[in-house]
Amino acid sequence: MILKGIGGFYTIQDTEGKLHECRARGLFRLKGITPLVGDRVIFSIQAGQDGFIEDISARKNEMVRPPVANIDNLVIVLAASSPKPDLLLADKLILQAEKNNARPVICLNKTDVSGTDMEEDLKKQYGLYDFLAVSARTGSGIENLKNVLSGKTSAFAGQSAVGKSSLLNVLGGDIDLKTGTMSKKTSRGKHTTRQTDLLYLKDINAFVMDTPGFSVFDAVKIEESELGALYLEFLPYLGKCRFLSCLHANEPDCAVKQAAAAGDIHPARYERYVSILNILKEKRERKYD
Ligand code: GDP
Ligand code: ZN
Repeated sequence: MILKGIGGFYTIQDTEGKLHECRARGLFRLKGITPLVGDRVIFSIQAGQDGFIEDISARKNEMVRPPVANIDNLVIVLAASSPKPDLLLADKLILQAEKNNARPVICLNKTDVSGTDMEEDLKKQYGLYDFLAVSARTGSGIENLKNVLSGKTSAFAGQSAVGKSSLLNVLGGDIDLKTGTMSKKTSRGKHTTRQTDLLYLKDINAFVMDTPGFSVFDAVKIEESELGALYLEFLPYLGKCRFLSCLHANEPDCAVKQAAAAGDIHPARYERYVSILNILKEKRERKYD
């Protein structure tokens, strides 16, 4: 597993947990393939020499910003107190996960502070998704989070100050952070050289990555026509609109819109769907200007 890549050098963790420095064979460059953090690779190494990446396993998915492969879970962290949850961002991150075949996990942190109202509301909005209520401060719910992460590769995403680093710290326990994402603090603000290292949590056999950027959605190519199918709560209604090509916005006799009006689809989720649809539309129109 590639944990880290800098200037053509890759840090690879072998199946026994040992780390190796490797370069990629020139062959990859010829084929236009760049090894990514998260890649499963076969490498060769001879005593006293640099190792070489010989082969890269087929990727389950590949994210562009940050560049990382094979993410199983996208853990979308929200804060129950402050900062106030940016649910448009949360929805975009869910879409990013769905589009990439990764599992979106809503993780409401700082539940030690707030009342339960927000938790109730968010559970209604994201009822069909995996939803965890946790506190990095008290440790409440952390076992559930560990169960989700165990044996998988997960990226943490969300607004700044929601507690992503705090959660990683709690999860990390006494692990050696030298190889991991904790270098983030120093790389903050440097967009182009931002590191996206994976951190290995030995106790639970999990790889985790702190995704510092939340502009990631910009890089995901979603067509307006496929957006609705990326909403789990829309699925029962798809194909039931009057028009086959319905985008569930202004069309008459739209089953999705009717379900939102009746409260069977959460109206706030539906409203944000329409916003995102408009964002995609504007993006498309700008492209063909
Ligand atoms: P990040 O920017 O998402 O990595 O957020 P940080 O981990 O840096 O946390 C931002 C602030 O929230 C810090 O002051 C943390 O101490 C605080 N914080 C993080 N988790 C919790 C929590 O579970 N409860 C409370 N009350 N505060 C928290
Ligand atoms: Zn419709």
